[in-house]
Amino acid sequence: MPSDFKVIIVGGGPIGLLAAHALQLAGIDFVVLEQRPRIVEDQGASIIVWPHTLRVMHQLGILEDLLSMGDELKRHLSFTKEGYAFSVGDRWERTHQNHGYWPVAFHRAELIEVLYNTLPPDAKEKVFTSKGLVDIEADEAGVRATCIDGSFYKGSLVIGADGVHSKTRSQMRKLALEADTQRDWDPEEPYLSTYRLLFGSFPSPCQPNFGYDTHSQDKSISFFSGEKRGWFFLYEKLPSPTQERVKYTEDDIQAVAKEFSDFALTQTVKVKDVWSQMCGYGMTTLQEGILGHWTFGRVVLIGDSCHKFTTHIGLGFNNGVQDVVVLFNALRKAVHQSSSGIPGYLTLIKALQTHEESRKDHKFHLYYLIS
Ligand SMILES: Cc1cc2nc3c(=O)[nH]c(=O)nc-3n(C[C@H](O)[C@H](O)[C@H](O)COP(=O)(O)OP(=O)(O)OC[C@H]3O[C@@H](n4cnc5c(N)ncnc54)[C@H](O)[C@@H]3O)c2cc1C
Repeated sequence: MPSDFKVIIVGGGPIGLLAAHALQLAGIDFVVLEQRPRIVEDQGASIIVWPHTLRVMHQLGILEDLLSMGDELKRHLSFTKEGYAFSVGDRWERTHQNHGYWPVAFHRAELIEVLYNTLPPDAKEKVFTSKGLVDIEADEAGVRATCIDGSFYKGSLVIGADGVHSKTRSQMRKLALEADTQRDWDPEEPYLSTYRLLFGSFPSPCQPNFGYDTHSQDKSISFFSGEKRGWFFLYEKLPSPTQERVKYTEDDIQAVAKEFSDFALTQTVKVKDVWSQMCGYGMTTLQEGILGHWTFGRVVLIGDSCHKFTTHIGLGFNNGVQDVVVLFNALRKAVHQSSSGIPGYLTLIKALQTHEESRKDHKFHLYYLIS
């Protein structure tokens, strides 16, 4: 049932694009506002996708397109930095036995490309680039999101899928504190980093389907191999934890690559063997934390904007997918139960709060889309 209810999604990353898929299937109008000039950009990162997320992709009708781009992880070994294999793990086999799929490694840029390309043409027309959000106004009647170029979009609610440095999050904070200057709220920079990460991709130096790790004092590595390319993640403990946003230079990156150059990726391949062939790389601090407040009024957060995990266990994207599922089950119910197709203010607020409460529930749940 189409409705006049309109959602403004801020951020055209993986979670914003998945939100677009869920909304268009539910017949709810939306726009996606992405600050970058292009949806697909390749920095060399990968994303490991777990079976429960693959099931959601199946529900969205995009599983086959995705699987054709992925590399299953089947073989696990743990090494010392010298390359001594001290553990043979069965984590990937167990995942397959218990959940029906191997974990699948995707090149992040290709995953995003599939998420964008599988949107129907009329949904793609609602995805706008070079639209960095700068301001949100909201009241009981609706929201207005203003972009850096001065354009603005009116709607029923704003969903912040704009990542770790979310502008939606800071605008939501501003609205909450304007309404009550005494209230407790999350700090402007809510996450803490204890590690930094140099990540990148390179032509595959070995057989596909490896998911290995290498361990040392204050340093470790994850390595994944696919048919076309391999990906590494070089983790290093920071001298002290920080909440500051750090931007690394090329010199910083080269220095870290040098520190790791003799570390083993496999029994026969070291970091220095692939460093000269890198296809793309980047370095970032690894923020961690879960926000106290995920919603205020007509604004709600999903993905890295409200929870952030270190990358080594592959939880960030997979958890963001669960946010999409829970939020859209609640929103769809609210829209379809209202006779006009536009839920009242209190009904909407309740749906957004249900999302936050369900996702923060400490009992273990996996959520799927309800049709
Ligand atoms: C190297 C690396 C490896 C990872 N590996 C895994 C893994 O194996 N498995 C896993 O589950 N997770 C992994 N993660 C985490 C995962 O990438 C994130 O959890 C996921 O990308 C979060 O998606 P998101 O859409 O919420 O945010 P993002 O991916 O950060 O996307 C946010 C989008 O919003 C846009 N944006 C930002 N500000 C604005 C604004 N003001 N206006 C408009 N648009 C804006 C950005 O340009 C971006 O496109 C990894 C992360 C890294 C860095």
